[in-house]
Amino acid sequence: MPERAKRIAVFGSTGSIGRSALEVIAASGGRLKAVALSAHSRLEDLVEQARRFRPKWVIAANAKAADAFDWKGLPKSCELLKGPAALVSVAGEKDVDVLLAGIVGSAGLESTWAALESKKTVALANKETLVMAGGLIGELVRRTGGQILPVDSEHSALFQALKAGRASEVARLILTASGGPFKDLSPADLQRVTVAEALAHPTWTMGPKITIDSATMMNKALEIIEARWLFGVEGERISVVLHPQSIVHSLVEFVDGSVLAQMSPPDMRLPIQYALEYPDRAPGVAERLDWSRAMRLDFEPPDRDRFPAIALGEQCARAGGTSGAVLNAANEAAVAAFLDGDLHFTEIVPACRSVLSAHNFEPNPSLERLLQLDRWARQEISRWVCV
Ligand code: NDP
Ligand code: MG
Repeated sequence: MPERAKRIAVFGSTGSIGRSALEVIAASGGRLKAVALSAHSRLEDLVEQARRFRPKWVIAANAKAADAFDWKGLPKSCELLKGPAALVSVAGEKDVDVLLAGIVGSAGLESTWAALESKKTVALANKETLVMAGGLIGELVRRTGGQILPVDSEHSALFQALKAGRASEVARLILTASGGPFKDLSPADLQRVTVAEALAHPTWTMGPKITIDSATMMNKALEIIEARWLFGVEGERISVVLHPQSIVHSLVEFVDGSVLAQMSPPDMRLPIQYALEYPDRAPGVAERLDWSRAMRLDFEPPDRDRFPAIALGEQCARAGGTSGAVLNAANEAAVAAFLDGDLHFTEIVPACRSVLSAHNFEPNPSLERLLQLDRWARQEISRWVCV
């Protein structure tokens, strides 16, 4: 047992990743402690979590919702902070050892940036940060000595498998994809997909945005870009394979042809725990594979016509520069429009492709420029929305 607990700021604690992270912390036998929790709209849940975990800071990122909320249930020992600036200041606090970045979308960028600037470790679920600004984040990490540990299951698998060899010995990274709920639908049926159908993922239970990204395969496009920046492997050497059981979480092929995989049932608590406990491994709360029962593992190449998002991910991973920020913002806006019933499911990827090709590419943008393009891409998507 270490002398003192590792202090974790759980940002996005009311979401799917955040709740799983709190389960991992609760089961850690005191090795991990939640020192900060943050939410946006689910403030009742936030208070309940604060009563259970007694963090030092409780952050309500949506200041307007926070002002309208009755906080009388919040323990007196918790300091209540409101608004997005509080995420930035707490991320850099000396009493935080690790930031668990579980906020969804580009809203997670600033706090991750602040934590890395303060030389902290970020257990990163929020892939959108790397998709938007992977090149700049890489420079920041090199400058400050901060560290990113992947929480995304595919990238956690790659991170673990990469330990088997040197960087110069890696031939290819192979990301697995379940294929989502519509893997076998005809193009005509795809046209009729409803929000409820798109929200029903066959193997993973996740927040709404990433569930839609999985159905369009945009999630895999974002993950190709994420892997490119996390591991410094060019886009040309990152492939995708369909694996409907979601047990092999990704694979590394070395130059001699040896392929290493990481396997476990689809349960995010394992990659979260691996990142929070790193460099140690600890007895886990996640489900385990049952080797006493017959099991099948299927792999097949994805149909690139059926999943055109993959090509967009490859394009952005190769191009770098401003392309990831534009794709990410276009996709966030398109998914929000689909969830609101204002855009057809089959229009999400074409809308993103059109915004990506309309933007003026720059190879070495500043963070400010990326944030400008983020706003521009969202506006462009509004042209596609049928109101
Ligand atoms: P959820 O939608 O379940 O949770 C999102 C969290 O972010 C909630 O706590 C939410 O607060 C908070 N939030 C939303 N908008 C804002 C905002 N504008 N400012 C501050 N906080 C905000 O998402 P997931 O947990 O599924 O995903 C989180 C991240 O992890 C995403 O980037 C996703 O891609 C990634 N990821 C998720 C996986 C999963 O299994 N779920 C797997 C791999 C990666 P509130 O609920 O109070 O409104
Ligand atoms: Mg993933």
